[in-house]
Amino acid sequence: MSDLGTHPRKPLSPTQRLKLFEAHKGLCCLCGNRIIGANWIDEHIRPLGLGGGNELDNRGPAHIRCAGLKTAADLRRIAKAKAQKKRHLGIRPPEQKKIPSRPFCDTYKERRELSPLGPPRPMFRPSTCAESEDH
Ligand SMILES: [Zn+2]
Repeated sequence: MSDLGTHPRKPLSPTQRLKLFEAHKGLCCLCGNRIIGANWIDEHIRPLGLGGGNELDNRGPAHIRCAGLKTAADLRRIAKAKAQKKRHLGIRPPEQKKIPSRPFCDTYKERRELSPLGPPRPMFRPSTCAESEDH
């Protein structure tokens, strides 16, 4: 296996395209159904971004629709593989700037000043009850 993403994409010549189509008997290399008309492209079976090459045995005809679905999945895998490689080499992603949140109030006084309703009231006051209702 070659290194990730080292092969540049190389288009096939018309002769190579025909050879590829015939080698696969006109079947889509992804879904296996017959390809009718011009709605196909030559697809990299192992994507270039995951170390696949441009040689014909890594290529197959695929419906444009099938190739689109595969490409979306491949891109996710390629991104993952690149992240794994970076981690392996100790390359860290750039530090992300944190969005500062509103700071918490430090003191009871501050809370009283910041809140338009005044300080939060306790739900019950067992000590004051005991004091005021002295039976
Ligand atoms: Zn297909």
